[in-house]
Amino acid sequence: MTCREFVESIRARLDHELEFNECIRFDQHASVCSKCAAYLDGYRQTVEVTRRAFSSPDLSDEDSELSEDLVGQIISSRHRLSVRRRTSER
Ligand SMILES: [Zn+2]
Repeated sequence: MTCREFVESIRARLDHELEFNECIRFDQHASVCSKCAAYLDGYRQTVEVTRRAFSSPDLSDEDSELSEDLVGQIISSRHRLSVRRRTSER
């Protein structure tokens, strides 16, 4: 599994939507790639924090789904930025 595939699979992995074989490849990549392991950690934490922030009784379950989408968007745009920064350094 490449780092790109890993990042693209994070959401599915956390939602338990990955095939068994994909889960194995995902977990294997996390154990050998410290960058992706750290990224996964950050992703989990951001989802946690956002979930807590939006878990007010005024909001329905639909709203918390939306906030999770937003988290994914924020994280993937951040990731794209860091990739761009890394390539311009070369
Ligand atoms: Zn990786």
